[in-house]
Amino acid sequence: MVDNMSRRGFDPLTYRFEDAIPASGGVTQLADGVFWVRMPMAGRLNHINVWLIRDDQGWTVVDTGLFREDVQRCWQNIFRQHLQGLPVTRVIATHLHSDHTGLAGWICQQFDCELWMSRSDFFMCKVMAADGPADVPEDAIRFYRRAGFTAARLERYRQRFGQFGANISPLPAGYQRIQDGQYINIGGREWRAIIGHGHAPEHVCLYCPELKLIIAGDQILPKITPNVSVNPSEPRANPLRDFINSCGRFREVLPPDLLVLPAHESLYHGLHERLTALIDWHEVALEKLYELCAEPKRAVDVFPALFKSAITDGSYFPATGEAIAHLHCALERRMVSVTEDDEGVAWWQQA
Ligand SMILES: [Zn+2]
Repeated sequence: MVDNMSRRGFDPLTYRFEDAIPASGGVTQLADGVFWVRMPMAGRLNHINVWLIRDDQGWTVVDTGLFREDVQRCWQNIFRQHLQGLPVTRVIATHLHSDHTGLAGWICQQFDCELWMSRSDFFMCKVMAADGPADVPEDAIRFYRRAGFTAARLERYRQRFGQFGANISPLPAGYQRIQDGQYINIGGREWRAIIGHGHAPEHVCLYCPELKLIIAGDQILPKITPNVSVNPSEPRANPLRDFINSCGRFREVLPPDLLVLPAHESLYHGLHERLTALIDWHEVALEKLYELCAEPKRAVDVFPALFKSAITDGSYFPATGEAIAHLHCALERRMVSVTEDDEGVAWWQQA
């Protein structure tokens, strides 16, 4: 995630419910039958926003927080105090990342209810969670060597590999598939699934025309841009093109006056302005990348075109993925070309 507020200079968004932000594990009502819950997280983000929607026979939960004891305690408290004695009848995960899916399996098991997700994200989540620490594949090492990782960085990758599953309680064997454009009836209201790409394979956003709000997950965050990364699982992918196209499409199909419920930070009005800003931010980054590649650069050399703050040990991996995403987008547009040296390292230069 990139903090891009300072780069834009002003903020066209209007933040809502600023005086009602729930405490960790707390609950705030947003609309008839729609509730905002915050779950704790480590790191700079320190929280994830998740949602409770009153359904016919109980409650639909949208996103869950990480598979951690403190988050489980928060949920148990909510189950006792905020569900009016009714069960959770469905869990929807917007996308595969562990802060969204972490307790999905656990909640489904507690209430014997269904998990709803997009197909790509359900299966990718299962595959990633199944990776064990001993399974570091050689082509993944080649991928990061090609990006310019030193031997020490590659060793860190080996150590980190297989950690994804640790933050996710086991998913059920089956799920209900959510597809783009599908209407989902929750508590007598229609919610329309709109699928975005680039941050996750098939990121589900849920739009309720009647309540004029959209659950946006990580796809349309305020203040920060979601990480758009190329990963070893699809080394030649161009997720940034997909992300930019999704922003453009959302701007065409969604009305401008929705209240946006993002997975991190504050709720806001200004959906179209935010979508435009997200596109602009990446377009500016691509221009800066082009300038920087006047001399040949490796992926790990182009961070200054994308990030204002210094890249730390913890952000080095997502920063690399994001750098490669921008390079692949620039390559497809014929802004840059790439050559590989004898060590298998890719060097990118203005075309
Ligand atoms: Zn995410």
